[in-house]
Amino acid sequence: MVSFHPDAKFLTDFAAGNLPLSEAICVAAHLEFCSKCRSHVQQLSDLGAQLMVRLEPQLTAADAADSDERQGFEQLMQRIDAGDTGMTVTPAPAEPARVSSANPLGLPRVVQKLAADGVQSLKWGQFGKSLRIAPIRIDKSSRETALYDIKAGGRMPEHEHRGEEITVLLKGSFSDAEGKYVKGDFVVRHAGERHQPTATLDTDCICLVSLEQPVKPSSFWYRLMEPFVQYRLSGLGN
Ligand SMILES: [Zn+2]
Repeated sequence: MVSFHPDAKFLTDFAAGNLPLSEAICVAAHLEFCSKCRSHVQQLSDLGAQLMVRLEPQLTAADAADSDERQGFEQLMQRIDAGDTGMTVTPAPAEPARVSSANPLGLPRVVQKLAADGVQSLKWGQFGKSLRIAPIRIDKSSRETALYDIKAGGRMPEHEHRGEEITVLLKGSFSDAEGKYVKGDFVVRHAGERHQPTATLDTDCICLVSLEQPVKPSSFWYRLMEPFVQYRLSGLGN
């Protein structure tokens, strides 16, 4: 069961179309697992639509809400295609992510969109025995977006954050000193926080990660992590 959710500011900015694309994708992925946040975003979108009607009397509230509901998620998909960081789109709540023969991992549609030929087709880099990372270029923002695949029972190197990190669990689960996280959880870490995520033993863990700044590896792991940092930078064309 999902226990960690985007805070009110994330949801409000998402509903208003004010979140930069990398973070909007993380919120959209969470919404596909979380009916509670989907309904919050829907309420915020409805409020926004009513406000728009008061500002633009020619549009009825129903028209505005219908339009948002029908177009919002598709518009987010179009933003991904266009690498657009525009601030004017209001993405509507997405439907739940479901496991099917076409989507055996049950990945959110927004992630399927980022990896149209399947997640295995992405450019994965291997770091140590347990960690693979596939950088995803989605816009020209300063954030890094990537999929992380941690082998069952595997540990990531301990690292410290220079900026905010958002992690959305897409498959499996992991734990760190703060707690245990399961599929759908939206976990935010802030600058200066250190942690060492460890995947649970029974299954691989796949996460969508949005990083404000590259992480600073602790000295013990520096030699291991240096190629990892270089890889991410080259993958993002910086
Ligand atoms: Zn939620």
